[in-house]
Amino acid sequence: MLTGLKSLVRKATSLFASPQAQTYPIIIPRSDHSLSRQNLSPNAVKVLYRLNKAGYDAYLVGGCVRDHLIGIDPKDFDVVTNATPEEVHTIFSNSRLIGRRFKLVHVTFGREIIEVSTFRASAAQEDNDDENTSTTSLKGKDSARSAHGIVLRDNVYGNIEEDAERRDFTFNALYYNVKDFSIHDYCGGLKDIENKQIRIIGDARQRYQEDPVRMLRAIRFAGKLGFELEAKTAAPIKEMAHLLDHIPPARLFEEVLKLLGSGNGIETFVLLRQYGLFRYLFPDAEALLQSGWKRDDINPEAFILQGLKNTDDRIQSGKTTAPYFLYAVLLWPSVALRHEEFQAQGMPATPALHQAANMVLDNQVASTAIPRRFSTPMREIWDMQFRLPKRYGKRAFLLLEHPRFRAGFDFLLIRELSGTKLDGLGDWWEAFQHGSENQQRELIKNIDARSNDKEGPKKRRPRRRRKSNGNSTSASTLSETSDE
Ligand code: ATP
Ligand code: MG
Repeated sequence: MLTGLKSLVRKATSLFASPQAQTYPIIIPRSDHSLSRQNLSPNAVKVLYRLNKAGYDAYLVGGCVRDHLIGIDPKDFDVVTNATPEEVHTIFSNSRLIGRRFKLVHVTFGREIIEVSTFRASAAQEDNDDENTSTTSLKGKDSARSAHGIVLRDNVYGNIEEDAERRDFTFNALYYNVKDFSIHDYCGGLKDIENKQIRIIGDARQRYQEDPVRMLRAIRFAGKLGFELEAKTAAPIKEMAHLLDHIPPARLFEEVLKLLGSGNGIETFVLLRQYGLFRYLFPDAEALLQSGWKRDDINPEAFILQGLKNTDDRIQSGKTTAPYFLYAVLLWPSVALRHEEFQAQGMPATPALHQAANMVLDNQVASTAIPRRFSTPMREIWDMQFRLPKRYGKRAFLLLEHPRFRAGFDFLLIRELSGTKLDGLGDWWEAFQHGSENQQRELIKNIDARSNDKEGPKKRRPRRRRKSNGNSTSASTLSETSDE
């Protein structure tokens, strides 16, 4: 696909080489690019035509144009227009207005959502450090910044040139015009695609200050596309990473899922750590990785990498993945460490595990929110790691019925693959799941035959008799048994 792009970029090279930035936009006609209407979502095309018909300008923009040019199937289609959100909403009965930070419209076609936003100008900066927020009004619309300079609301509408300038990276400011099937390049994105470069639009420091999530997006695209960060785009990241502390945990949660749960988790994880960003997403995990803590039965880094590989492989082969699984992987080493600490303080294994899980989750939600519908299955997966070895009697049959069995089992395999020795437990469960009832009973019998304290039925210790003090045995002494 990049080869298809070469000719058009060559044509444009003299423009790119020119110091006259005002030569933008470069307009690439249909004959000179590889993006065809046939590759686009028919619903997105419908939205473009309807907006055009109602007298508005409308373009496809962002990831869908970028990914098509690179040769990747885009995951969603974003439309941008000079119609206001309210006007868009009036045109499409199947739409709803959403967002506060960015007001936009979702046009719904069955399960597909086409996101339609209005051209925006960048929010004007105000010198107002004493206030928690500053608000400015332009063209009847509003914007606001926090005391840290982070843009809280950005609903200042503008024209297409202004819209391009406030986008994050040059390759995300390419606009596809369905009227004549041309692509409009406002910031040199095509050349950057050609050179496999991620380049922020404008001054990197200022753009990260306005929205620190752009640092994460830079890393996400580097992991996803295998592109390099251009020097000025990369330079301030380590120093400015701490600004992520001011981003709401719910937004960071969503970003983490996109970063690590989109099929390039390993590369992205490595880059996040390299740029000093991971610690603002997973402070406990980063501290533990830095400390070099390991145990015979857990190697945190190998385990996390193995878990990410599992997610990447599943996505690349078209299988589904659960966000709670990914989070359970990332936090498991921290849970294992806390579990050990609580047990060392004398707490029995099961309450120690619950206490460890509570502590790790409490710490984590200060960085990235974890909705309860995810934290509950995470706990179940962790819990299952202590239940899967206990297979005797009816337990194996009951565990198999557990709604989280499959996730718990997959998690166990990741532990084994990362070097944890579990005495063939994964193979045993593999055989048990697929065996006939007779084979299952045989498998359980084989465990019983070599039962030990960990796996076999609990044995009753012989009763200890109290030293006789001359009295006859009382009822209480007779009932004193321990099955621990
Ligand atoms: P993908 O959807 O493949 O993850 P994308 O680039 O389309 O990538 P979206 O989050 O869908 O990402 O955003 C759509 C477009 O909106 C981007 O391409 C970019 O132009 C703009 N955009 C998104 N987030 C930001 C941001 N934080 N700052 C500036 N522009 C942004
Ligand atoms: Mg997108």
